[in-house]
Amino acid sequence: MSRPAHPIEPSSDQITKLSSSFSKVPNLTDYAGEYMRFTWRDAWRLLDGLPGEKGYNIAHEAVDRHAAGPKADKVAIRWLGKSGDRREFTYRDLSEATSRFANALINLGVLPGERVFVLMGRLPELYVAVLGALKARCVVSPLFSAFGPEPIATRVEIGDGRVLVTTLGLYRRKVESVRAKLAGLAHVILVGDETFEDAGLHAWSALMETASASFAIAPTDPEDMALLHFTSGTTGRPKGAIHVHGAIAAHHMTGIYALDLHDDDVFWCTADPGWVTGTSYGILAPLTNGVTSVVVEAEFDAQTWYSVLQRERVNVWYTAPTAIRMMMRLGSDVVKSYDLSALRFMASVGEPLNPEAVVWGQEAFGIPFHDNWWQTETGGIMIANFAALPIKPGSMGLPLPGIAAAIVRRLKNGGVDGIDTPMVEGELALRKGWPSMMRGYLNEEERYRKCFVGDWYLTGDLAKRDSDGYFWFVGRADDVIKSAGHLIGPFEVESALMEHPAVAEAAVIGIPDPTVGEVVKAFVALKPGHEPNENLRKELLGHARKRLGPAVSPKQIDFRANLPKTRSGKIMRRLLRARELGLPEGDLSTLESDEK
Ligand code: ATP
Ligand code: MG
Repeated sequence: MSRPAHPIEPSSDQITKLSSSFSKVPNLTDYAGEYMRFTWRDAWRLLDGLPGEKGYNIAHEAVDRHAAGPKADKVAIRWLGKSGDRREFTYRDLSEATSRFANALINLGVLPGERVFVLMGRLPELYVAVLGALKARCVVSPLFSAFGPEPIATRVEIGDGRVLVTTLGLYRRKVESVRAKLAGLAHVILVGDETFEDAGLHAWSALMETASASFAIAPTDPEDMALLHFTSGTTGRPKGAIHVHGAIAAHHMTGIYALDLHDDDVFWCTADPGWVTGTSYGILAPLTNGVTSVVVEAEFDAQTWYSVLQRERVNVWYTAPTAIRMMMRLGSDVVKSYDLSALRFMASVGEPLNPEAVVWGQEAFGIPFHDNWWQTETGGIMIANFAALPIKPGSMGLPLPGIAAAIVRRLKNGGVDGIDTPMVEGELALRKGWPSMMRGYLNEEERYRKCFVGDWYLTGDLAKRDSDGYFWFVGRADDVIKSAGHLIGPFEVESALMEHPAVAEAAVIGIPDPTVGEVVKAFVALKPGHEPNENLRKELLGHARKRLGPAVSPKQIDFRANLPKTRSGKIMRRLLRARELGLPEGDLSTLESDEK
């Protein structure tokens, strides 16, 4: 059945209005030319390689090569503590500290390839531990500090953790009770200077003091496993995605192309390193590009964030739709009371960015948010709205140079067929071969194999491509609603609801219906100053019907104070659906706010 053109496609004057105005020439100006010319071989030449042609190690590219060159005294990380303290680490400082940590691991007898888990808030030691462990060629897995004991134990167990770096407080509250289960966990390193009786517990400062500050990274094959990242668990049980040292080539290039990082930029990625964004772009991409990266220990608070942007003169800012929607709740006048004149480029990832949010960015900040798309599995940004190109609000943008993206249909014989017709939905697929592609799901060979058909990696997300080559997110394959022969993507329904001035957030699911298969049901959280009532419900139903037509618009709307989300801020539609239908709730290890 044919569908009308995408209802959120912008008009051409909206596109022009949302093109950025530049205080610096963007890195990628000739998109088509660069896309044609680009090869990953050329990209590798922008990296350094270990001295003596001994391969590629992430920590060398991110830290040591700058510490050995003109950027040695440049601030690599500017850390802003919760209680107002502020510490700066130059590339030289970071190189020395990470060398100490690498030596400390080796002094403990930890071997290359062994797993080092890191569980702490955004403390400076987190950054030192991650990069130091990579120098020692251990495999690093950063965990989110708000996880409870069970999710921590499960991940350390699946990942065969040999070392855990954490704080004494977190250890007592979250690890001690499950420690007995973790037979392979030989060492727990606790940030601070207390000493311990237990042979397996070590004080960070004692280990660091006795370790040497010089370290020569041993030969590292770019295919050596470097990082183990667990997915967000939005659609089910989290998977452990394996990434290799060579991934740094993708972190480097995507930092240049998609985040438009320039040499003298101050960059801020708001994501926690417990999720892949906080590692790939909160640690690796800014460092390999030699910029100054701001790290904020405190959790989200709109006014605090605006103060950071103002005071630190942040030039490039990478954040997430959930935070943007919270800022929108407070309105644009608050934003305008800050001097954000240094801010040149704003990007967003993690969930679809509603067109409303893109336009709001322009209105409140004077520049739009640039949505980009990727996954834990892809290791880095794959599709993006670029600084120099017009934005179409609601679109994820264009594939990066070096990335071939397609819309495909799965065939009954197990193959896939490409869909070339513009705006026809199918599964988003990427051709294998970029450096930060996962090399496996840990201990889940079969699940990994199923992601590939021939040369193509199938992402599990549905999307469409327009005649200009821009990609439009439809929904996760698991979340798509099938109603009277239509495939309805939750994103377009949610975006239409978000356009109503009373709506702060919306989530849409399908519920079984004997006549049409499934009908659309929406859950809505309101902005301050709006009360849930029958009139508003009717108004929203009418608004959505007018905007989307009767086949696609929701038949039911429930009001909620909050929507259930993962700790990385993604709406968990599967949980809303399970609760609505009285089904098992499944793995809730990554659930953050609970609406019950
Ligand atoms: P799990 O795989 O465990 O269910 P998850 O898919 O949420 O969790 P992540 O790898 O953190 O785990 O998230 C990647 C997914 O997030 C993408 O596959 C996509 O569904 C969604 N996503 C990320 N960025 C965007 C974006 N810009 N627009 C739309 N969706 C996005
Ligand atoms: Mg996923």
